[in-house]
Amino acid sequence: MPATVLAFCNQKGGVGKTTTVFHLAAALSRHGLKVLAIDMDPQGNLSTILTGEPIHPGDAGIADVLSDRSDATLTDIIGPGIWPGVDLAATIPDAETLAAVRDELVLAGAGREHRLRDAVDSVRANYDIVLIDCPPSLDQLTINALVAADQVVIVSQSALFSANGLDRLRRTIDAVRRSYHPDLTLRGVIINLHEAQTIAGQEQLDEIAAHAEIIGYPIPKAVVIKDASEAQRSLEDWGTARARSLATIFSDITIALIGENNGTPAKA
Ligand code: ADP
Ligand code: MG
Repeated sequence: MPATVLAFCNQKGGVGKTTTVFHLAAALSRHGLKVLAIDMDPQGNLSTILTGEPIHPGDAGIADVLSDRSDATLTDIIGPGIWPGVDLAATIPDAETLAAVRDELVLAGAGREHRLRDAVDSVRANYDIVLIDCPPSLDQLTINALVAADQVVIVSQSALFSANGLDRLRRTIDAVRRSYHPDLTLRGVIINLHEAQTIAGQEQLDEIAAHAEIIGYPIPKAVVIKDASEAQRSLEDWGTARARSLATIFSDITIALIGENNGTPAKA
């Protein structure tokens, strides 16, 4: 079966899209799945933490795949991630090239929305799952991610779900569906930075659940989630009991996303 393609979206920055994609990639690797992570944020944060080899400023990246000015294919620019079975289509951090391509796409003509989809379709057969980390904006890069995706996963803080402008995101998803991709579905919401102790936290969850499926359990705010990603380590590898228990949250989200019978644990 060709890969399922998931776009992790929220036009607000700092909600944990990149961190979630990082730890889900670790969990998917442990489940024995072949994963392609695509970094669509010009800042390249995911690339910095997920790459298995040094990235240099002049390297070709996803910007080259999307641009008219380069012949690079997705296969050309895919490199290893840090875990077995995880590949990365990187954005070269700080190079501003993907931001330039975003502006190029604004001016480009017909077909500009499909560039990432065409690229992903060419490698889909090689993977079980493709994770697209979206930029914190509703721009041509996010549109390309939505057109390439089968399903949208919203990452949101519980407290900010309604305040986040998620209506705008939903309208964008609807517009993409109408114009380019009728089969695009909203898979659900991953709640991050959750404050379970507060009554407000639970009320917010109930409120969100009335609007969209909550995928797995809410991810709490925990320094080790940040520390492990910045150290390029999985929560399993981090070694503390707290980290291992947090790893199960990402593992459960993985199972919710791929289904119970998909994949076998890579490690006992
Ligand atoms: P986004 O991709 O949505 O902009 P990031 O994944 O970059 O958000 O997360 C923003 C910041 O919050 C990062 O410094 C990250 O390490 C931190 N962070 C994300 N999720 C958590 C969490 N559950 N607990 C603690 N820190 C987190
Ligand atoms: Mg990010």
